[in-house]
Amino acid sequence: MSDHAHAHAHAHEHAHDHAHDHAHGGLFLESGTESIQRCASCGHTLAALDAAASCPACDGLLDIVHVAPRDVMGAPLHGMALRAHFAQHCCARPLGSPSGVWRFESLVMPGAGSAIVSHPEGNTPLLTRPAIDRFAGIEGLRIKHEGHNPTGSFKDRGMTVGVTQAVRLGASAVACASTGNTSAALASYAAQAGIPGLVFVPAGKIALGKLAQTLGYGARTLIVRGDFDDCLRLVQDAARELGIYLLNSINPWRVEGQKTIVLEMLQQLGWESPDFIVLPAGNLGNTAAFGKALREAHALGLIDRVPRLVAVQAAGSAPFARGYRDGFATRYTVTADTIATAIRIGDPASWDRAVRAIRETNGMVLSCTDDEIIEAKVVIDAAGVGCEPASAASVAGVRQLVRDGVITPGQRVVAVLTGHVLKDPGILVDLHQRADFASANRPIEIDADVRAVARVLEQRSVV
Ligand SMILES: [Zn+2]
Repeated sequence: MSDHAHAHAHAHEHAHDHAHDHAHGGLFLESGTESIQRCASCGHTLAALDAAASCPACDGLLDIVHVAPRDVMGAPLHGMALRAHFAQHCCARPLGSPSGVWRFESLVMPGAGSAIVSHPEGNTPLLTRPAIDRFAGIEGLRIKHEGHNPTGSFKDRGMTVGVTQAVRLGASAVACASTGNTSAALASYAAQAGIPGLVFVPAGKIALGKLAQTLGYGARTLIVRGDFDDCLRLVQDAARELGIYLLNSINPWRVEGQKTIVLEMLQQLGWESPDFIVLPAGNLGNTAAFGKALREAHALGLIDRVPRLVAVQAAGSAPFARGYRDGFATRYTVTADTIATAIRIGDPASWDRAVRAIRETNGMVLSCTDDEIIEAKVVIDAAGVGCEPASAASVAGVRQLVRDGVITPGQRVVAVLTGHVLKDPGILVDLHQRADFASANRPIEIDADVRAVARVLEQRSVV
């Protein structure tokens, strides 16, 4: 039995068996098992099929480490050859996958094979719109629109991998504590897998509208008598004692899926890195995933140059932006308050991983006010693209960087939109009925007379 196979069988007792796997800067395993889980804090390793939610030794976050990609003959795939491998797996038969996540299987969950639960997802467009360019102050701004995923947000990319892992583990159910995009994605993929999906929410904190998709997809919503901490504790106890697989935001397999936002974007750009990738930042899961994707893509020769990551927070919940300003000397928490609910997070779970992502990419962290975010959202919506409020933080961030002279003419920038415009219909109705809102697009009541229609058209042409 090789060291690696041995470690696979007894991961708990042999934390250091992989210490010699330091080619590619320790980013990949050299041989043996396809993936392991490794504690980011103490280096303790677990087998890929261990269901622990965090490090059993120190409670640190787990990272996934894969064997370096290889061809069918076992030869390492690097640079052009790896690009060709992914191109071959894009849509074409018989090797192809219709999923924008699973075409990158060798960097996400190698060997997932028949366990894969895929909608399919990903393959989201890279858009350009002159109106958004004018607003941001830069030509050719690329918009990576993750709202085009099956449940309307980027969460599907992580959830297809997380629920696939639940199938590999033979989990009795999957669970999360969330009322937003995560629970919608969990519910959809659990339904497809035929595994019960459980969503835990604290009593009194529940807005049913946010759970509408989740209810429709058939997940069981458990309203817990207690606060959010009670809720989290219960989810963890249930995972330990009842064989329920936890798909909360620190689940390392979800991070693997979210990496494909960047991998797919780079592939769409012909593997020529943009100068900047700008994304909304709340819990920092995407910032962490983007950093890991870029680190691996660079180590594997997929890209020659690492783009700068820019994480954009809402000013009312910007602990990470505050940390950035003091060189990440302190891990801050705040009482979060912003209209951008998907990034309304006061104590981001993936802080440490995100710090590494920003440092390694010579990145930046900004904050934008709710007014700036809404201003950007109105432009994105009116361009016919549309997004949920949190998403617009990325475009607001680009505008700020152009104004500050950080982004200069001719530079290539991708802004990520994380969720679909219908994720928050309430804000659309509110905004466009408001008397004090300059860009309000109010319904116009008219007589049933074609002249009245003509008058409306005349007014539009004046505007
Ligand atoms: Zn540990």
